This record gives sequence, structure tokens and C-alpha cells, in this order.
Amino acid sequence: MLEDYCKTLVGAGSSRDMEKLYAAASARKKEFPGIPETGDLSFFEADVFLNRFASKEIDPETLYAVEKSFDIPFYDNGKVSLTGRIDRMDIVRGKERDTLQITDYKTGKNELSEEELKNDIQMKFYIFAAFLLYRKRHRNIRFTLSYLRDGNESSFETSAPETFHGEIEGLIKELAGDSSYAKRPGSLCRRCPAFKVCKPELPDE
Ligand code: SF4
Repeated sequence: MLEDYCKTLVGAGSSRDMEKLYAAASARKKEFPGIPETGDLSFFEADVFLNRFASKEIDPETLYAVEKSFDIPFYDNGKVSLTGRIDRMDIVRGKERDTLQITDYKTGKNELSEEELKNDIQMKFYIFAAFLLYRKRHRNIRFTLSYLRDGNESSFETSAPETFHGEIEGLIKELAGDSSYAKRPGSLCRRCPAFKVCKPELPDE
């Protein structure tokens, strides 16, 4: 929906269009027949997020990509890749240099402070992936967590994104060297990419 909406803004050269936003939302609504109208994880809650999202203008001049998927061969002769999807990217023009701005939208209740974000592995992973994708053009990269529940944001910016290489490679080595992995079945299992391999024992819904 975000992708549809941003494409509409770029096409029209406008920074906000509530009518188009809600049209994009209702066009997708029928794809999710099991979602309740009210309560947790409902369309009502999604409406709150939409309003929060729409309260911030999107500059079609700086918008670079939305829902950008990546799959970068990285370790062990390309047997291990860095894969993921970036919600939104902007190129912010500066006097001395441009900044590649990554925005990750969050709907959860747990928020990271800027201090906590400095050590966050997701931030390092996305900044390093963006560096590998765009290093010929962009070295200054900013990562922002944008919380749709309350409009708060936390950001981290670096002009040395390559410094995360060692830590990410070290984590992959550690995972590759693990001979076992303790299952921790819980509510997130059904959305886990390893679900089919892991086969956790979950209570019937
Ligand atoms: S399905 Fe995923 S989250 Fe659940 S126990 Fe297995 S690895 Fe952990």
C-alpha cells in the first residue's frame, strides 16, 4: 500500500494526498478478509497508523525507492547472502554531500532511543546493505526508525558504513558454526521465515 501511495505521489508531484492514501488502503483491504474491524491488529488500528503516516509529508523530489528488496551474495563465496527489504529510501541533498536516508516504519509498541539505536544490529545490517548496493554514489547513510503509533523517530547517521562489515561477518560466522539452535516457540513463529524448517510445537489456535 505504501508503495502504491508513494508511486501516486511521485506521478502527481505532490507531497500528500489523503484521498489517494485511503483509496490505496481500501483497494488492498479485500485482500485481508480475516482481519477484524476493531481491537488489536484490526483495520481500526491500521487507520490510526495511516493517519500518523499521512501527517508527515513525503517529498516526491527526494523519494528514491520504496519496498526495495535486496539479495547480496556476501559470505563463503556467495553461499550466504544478505537479504531483506527496505521500506523507503530518500536522497537528501546537502551542501557538501548527499545523504542516503533509509526509513523503516514500525507499528510495534517497543521503541528504541537514539542511544539504543547506536548498537542495534538491524540498523547496522540495513546501513551496510545500502552501502554495498550504492557505494559508488553514496557513503553518507542515515537510518531512521519511524514509529507509526505515536509519530516518534530515532535516527543514526554515519559516513563510514563499511565499519559494520566485521561485525556482520562475525555474526554470520558464529551462526554458521552453531551445531544446534534452541527453539523458542511463541506468537511470532507463524511469521518466522524458518517456520517450515523449524516445525515448532505450537498450541492449536
Ligand atoms: S519458528 Fe522461528 S521463531 Fe519459532 S521457534 Fe522456530 S526459529 Fe524460533
